[in-house]
Amino acid sequence: MSINVRAFDGFSFDEAIEIFNSAKNYLRKSDLANFLINEIERIDEVLTINVRKTLVDEWRWPEKDDVNSAGEIDWNITTELNVIDYRDRRPDVDWVSRVDDDAIARMSIALILMHEIGHACQYMTSKTEFREHIRTLDNDVCLMIENINVNAIENTVALELISGGSIEGIRWDYRDTQ
Ligand SMILES: [Zn+2]
Repeated sequence: MSINVRAFDGFSFDEAIEIFNSAKNYLRKSDLANFLINEIERIDEVLTINVRKTLVDEWRWPEKDDVNSAGEIDWNITTELNVIDYRDRRPDVDWVSRVDDDAIARMSIALILMHEIGHACQYMTSKTEFREHIRTLDNDVCLMIENINVNAIENTVALELISGGSIEGIRWDYRDTQ
């Protein structure tokens, strides 16, 4: 087990674990999320998840000499995030909805957590390369990292959850929020 859940902002540890387990069980309905969560639980590095009512959702990379860490996530479970599924950005493939209009929908807090776990996966895939990229603090590079995460992980998980009957928000570009 290499996910470490911590409680903040008045949550008890038991409450934090319950909230996290509920999100994890929901995400496991997606094959991709299930696979990635299993990978995170299998590796030696520890991913810390802070269950909160405050702060902006964020994954932070570990200090360079902290080789036993997969980073730390602030997960604000009160976050509301509406994302916009723009028709013009939508891939023209049959596994994506055919609605004619732009669609706005709320992302669940579980999917928001998945987005942050996605950054941990990006980091774990190539720690050195990730550090090199993020070190530049170039806006285009940061947006590229966000959009790889959005399109390789976040909206793939969202589509799998939707195909299982869940309601989820979808975006094709990181900036498509409301
Ligand atoms: Zn992100």
